[in-house]
Amino acid sequence: MLFNLAVLFGTLVAMEGVGTLAHKYVMHGWGWWLHRSHHEPQLGMLETNDLYLVALGLIALALVALGKAGHAPLQWVGAGVAGYGVAYVLAHDGLFHRHWPRAPKPVNRYLKRLYRAHRLHHAVKGRQGSVSFGFFYAPPLRVLKGQLKRRRG
Ligand SMILES: [Zn+2]
Ligand SMILES: [Zn+2]
Repeated sequence: MLFNLAVLFGTLVAMEGVGTLAHKYVMHGWGWWLHRSHHEPQLGMLETNDLYLVALGLIALALVALGKAGHAPLQWVGAGVAGYGVAYVLAHDGLFHRHWPRAPKPVNRYLKRLYRAHRLHHAVKGRQGSVSFGFFYAPPLRVLKGQLKRRRG
């Protein structure tokens, strides 16, 4: 049991690394055509960018299915991937973008920093020159602001 929990927790932590890299090199790279909607004014509740979340859900389901089929502890990796997806929706859609009728507010320093860092991610229009690609880790704001300043020349 303890081992399974360690796998679950390790997956959650690792997913922030995977998510950051995917956001930087896939979503702002060859996958920009899907992510672009998220960097433009929002029209409805859904955007094509949400397909990344669907993909994440399918990966989690596949991992759980493989784990159940005898490839333990993949089901716990799948649970970690799913958990990261849920946390992402709560933080990114709820807290950072206030997509919900009852918008939660960042209540502590950590969440405030994440919130402001993600605002800075959206400060750059278009695919290139963005800063702060993580969702649960953000570099200090002055570092991000310095990066933005240098990029704008
Ligand atoms: Zn982005
Ligand atoms: Zn965003």
